[in-house]
Amino acid sequence: MDKKIVVAGAGGFIGGHVVNFLRTRGHRNLRAVDIKPPEQWFQRFEDVENLVLNLQKEDACRKAAEGAEMVYNFAADMGGMGFIENNKALCMLSVLINTHLLEASRKTSVRKYFYASSACVYAADKQKSEDVVPLAEPDAYPAMPEDGYGWEKLFSERMCRHYHEDFGLEIAVARFHNVYGPMGTFDGGREKAPAAICRKIINNILSDSLEIEIWGDGKQTRSFTFIEDCLKGIDLLMRSDIQEPLNIGSSELVSINGLVDIVESIAEVKLRRTYKLNAPKGVNGRNSDNTLIKSLFQWEPSTRLKDGLETTYRWIYDQMVNRHKLESDRFTRP
Ligand code: NAD
Repeated sequence: MDKKIVVAGAGGFIGGHVVNFLRTRGHRNLRAVDIKPPEQWFQRFEDVENLVLNLQKEDACRKAAEGAEMVYNFAADMGGMGFIENNKALCMLSVLINTHLLEASRKTSVRKYFYASSACVYAADKQKSEDVVPLAEPDAYPAMPEDGYGWEKLFSERMCRHYHEDFGLEIAVARFHNVYGPMGTFDGGREKAPAAICRKIINNILSDSLEIEIWGDGKQTRSFTFIEDCLKGIDLLMRSDIQEPLNIGSSELVSINGLVDIVESIAEVKLRRTYKLNAPKGVNGRNSDNTLIKSLFQWEPSTRLKDGLETTYRWIYDQMVNRHKLESDRFTRP
């Protein structure tokens, strides 16, 4: 409990939740690192050492990893489909973060290293149909991942693997499938589908509009993983000695139209849908094959989408209503 644990990308969505998870488990020697100014972190704790560092730099990674026993790497320049399809070079530059952080970890006292990979490593030709065959871990090869972001993730997974094989660093690599929940991005262009749809519907409620724009034809299918399941999966993986990449993803398949149906029912509205067919929409279908995680841990992510979305919707709603109030106070103040 007293050994130093570093969480890189701690100002972001998953990293912030992981810092809190570790605190509530009794860890008291935590170092949280992010490039963002402190006021922009989703979660920040006074009992944690908080550092603002650009982890694309080698010396920053050395400072971050110094004296640590474990490193969790959630730091990446990333976002939803709209961001990753239009910023491939930026996404690939995250390779600097993982490379320098692995090397810094090897040179100091780090025993175990966690890497946040993604379902975007899976080969594109296995995701052409909405009617999916769930993706199992070996399906990442032969390699043809999502251009830019997915290639960086696959390369970084392999860096981790070779640091294990060549230098004996223990590693844990999770392939996350669309993680969602409170205290994450819901606007600004980096948000993912569940948060974007909640935001659009809440916006419509606040502005009395009856129309919602959906990217693609809405028939594309995905599974979405609630943050609490993601945290449990990370914890199980970190406590194990599994060195191979592992899916951490829900297997509850839904179309984007189905996702909108669920959020509409939570919000108790029915909106007219328009479809932006030339918007970035990613692969046609993707789901997580959970055979391996179930066989290892007798567990798989199981929060029902409608329950996780309910919690997420309420949080985004509160954030937006507060902002709305602040803005109208500013205008009405004499
Ligand atoms: P996020 O964008 O909320 O968090 C990433 C954090 O990394 C941000 O706070 C950002 O400021 C920080 N960061 C970026 N560049 C940095 C740098 N040079 N130095 C220091 N910090 C830097 O994203 P998230 O949703 O929390 O995702 C965390 C990790 O999980 C990422 O690696 C992401 O690719 C991976 N992942 C997430 C999902 C998902 O659905 N959220 C799915 C698959 C994989």
